[in-house]
Amino acid sequence: MSPKNLRNPTGSAAAATDSAAASLVEVADLTVAFGALRAVDGLSFRLAPGGALALVGESGSGKSTVASALLGLHRGTGAREGGTVRVAGTDVRSASEEELRRLRGGTAAMVFQDPLSSLDPYYAVGDQIAEVYRTHTRASRRAARARAVEVLDRVGIPDAARRSRSRPHEFSGGMRQRALIAMALACAPDLLIADEPTTALDVTVQAQILDLLHTLREETGMGLLLVTHDVGVAAESVDEVLVMRHGRAVEHGPVADVLGAPGAAYTRELLAAVP
Ligand code: ADP
Ligand code: MG
Repeated sequence: MSPKNLRNPTGSAAAATDSAAASLVEVADLTVAFGALRAVDGLSFRLAPGGALALVGESGSGKSTVASALLGLHRGTGAREGGTVRVAGTDVRSASEEELRRLRGGTAAMVFQDPLSSLDPYYAVGDQIAEVYRTHTRASRRAARARAVEVLDRVGIPDAARRSRSRPHEFSGGMRQRALIAMALACAPDLLIADEPTTALDVTVQAQILDLLHTLREETGMGLLLVTHDVGVAAESVDEVLVMRHGRAVEHGPVADVLGAPGAAYTRELLAAVP
């Protein structure tokens, strides 16, 4: 299959190309508060189409809260948000339900740390991917099954047609994470949000998944927002790093600058903690 097939020809990237300066992601002065806790406290950043940015910081620094805000997941939860969140031209905080549905289904896809929490143990992996694809594209069952096998093959599941009929527990941890990435890829997103995608995996498998993300980025041109507490993971996977602490940006810039010559004492501490 040609890499082009992974792109959605009618994809919503069109909205983002209105002007050359358009960003895939634009977050401006974002605040997310849970009761008295400001989990995100005045955060701003941009991601260019096809770019890759890592949000790095200790557990509790607000990374996942930012990732959720990009998909409008705080709506109706009681969390209080302020500021601007735009993804591929959609103003997420004021978007209609229909716009949000389109955003979550096609434009931006999310992969989490634990594949088992996102996969149903009772259904074949291929059926679950086909189901997600059908929900967002209204493709026929047959086309959706074919798409599932295509993306499973694409993420390196050997003998994908046969393995697509396996249930999640028949896969290893690394294979499950690949399957979840396949699910995210099915609708050819412009943006992949990966929240600690390698944290639950051992080091060898971690490297394979990071490699896969890198290859997919090159082939599809999708943007990547990588959330990780692991500075080493960020260093290998992205162009830009934003270091978060207590919901704020401590430092933000190209990987080589931030990790090579950190200006902030906090970044130096994080780096020192890497084995
Ligand atoms: P990270 O992903 O960097 O580990 P999170 O974004 O998950 O951090 O959490 C940031 C802070 O917000 C933490 O103190 C966490 O306990 C709190 N928090 C996250 N989600 C909720 C929620 N739904 N309700 C209340 N507090 C939350
Ligand atoms: Mg988190």
